[in-house]
Amino acid sequence: MLFAEIPGLPETKENLINAVKNNHLAHALLFHGPEGSASLTMALALSTYLFCQNPGDKDACGECSYCKRMEKLIVPDLNFAFPSISKDKDGEEDEKNIELANWRTFVKEQPYGNIHDYIYFNGFEKKQLNISKGAARKIIQSLSLMSFEGGYKVMLIWGVEYLHPSAANSLLKIIEEPPSKTVFMLITSQPDQLLTTILSRTQKVMVRAFSDDEVKAHLVESGQCDVKLAEQISMLADGDLRVAYRLVNDVVDEQVSKIREWFLLCYGKKLKDLFNLADNFHKADKEAQKSLILTALNVLREIMLKNVSLEELLRTTGEDRAFIEKISGKVLDENHVLELYESFNNAHYHLERNGNAKMIFTDLSMKVLLSMAKTN
Ligand SMILES: [Zn+2]
Repeated sequence: MLFAEIPGLPETKENLINAVKNNHLAHALLFHGPEGSASLTMALALSTYLFCQNPGDKDACGECSYCKRMEKLIVPDLNFAFPSISKDKDGEEDEKNIELANWRTFVKEQPYGNIHDYIYFNGFEKKQLNISKGAARKIIQSLSLMSFEGGYKVMLIWGVEYLHPSAANSLLKIIEEPPSKTVFMLITSQPDQLLTTILSRTQKVMVRAFSDDEVKAHLVESGQCDVKLAEQISMLADGDLRVAYRLVNDVVDEQVSKIREWFLLCYGKKLKDLFNLADNFHKADKEAQKSLILTALNVLREIMLKNVSLEELLRTTGEDRAFIEKISGKVLDENHVLELYESFNNAHYHLERNGNAKMIFTDLSMKVLLSMAKTN
């Protein structure tokens, strides 16, 4: 990860680079920012810069063997700790190695992912995750060794709020006084959940949410979508790059069929079925709920495009496309779709802030039902 690969945030990048150049880099940094921000990628870019053999004024060179190995996250002096389900036992090396390999793949594939993505990625649903005392012991052990290459050693702890209190306590001393040229990079989106003893020993690096313009420019420059779509997505993503990626990729996804079923029940005014659906929705986990609402937003967006005859921008295909074509105009006209779009957007907002899922879903069902009735 290079600084250049992270959209925008020039002020954060400059501060970090200046700290390295002026030899002012703290030995324990806490990268914190909202979900979908660059807190992890910023720590990785800083690590690359520290390891790089020919660092430039604004970034690592991207060419040397260290930069190349950083792309694969396999620099020997870069250590990772992250939430895990493993028992607090030593001697399960195979399991640990598989976990580490999975972690590297996860970071490369979803550098803006959150803990829920990580749980899905590993199939850790319904399991208790933490960074155990055993993991802390491992951290201390690996940092007590000499640096492999004679340069910096980095200990990156992702999801540091998952540190078990006993693990946190055993790390206090080494975080306060790490061996020379060792840098702790702690990463969290929930600094308020950290023990004050940890907080007080770190220098905070606040990584703000991306601006809409940063998200928009990034989506266009990386060729993920056109300017028009990027504009809509950046507004909806609200600075969260994870959500922005999802919106780009999920326009076509299997969830569309769920939206199709839902809207058909609304169309047929099948109230009993809609209440059952609300129950199911309520039972799903928060991420699944939010993701369904995002898919519905995409469907509504497609219906809007169809309504204003911008078919060339439609992304759905096959059965989903047929559904969009059937529903737009006759079943949901332009004005009603716009209203619904707003309602679904609000629903996503309320779900994020722990609104009652069943009520939110039922409310949406009624709104869709009424919009369809009024269009007719
Ligand atoms: Zn380099």
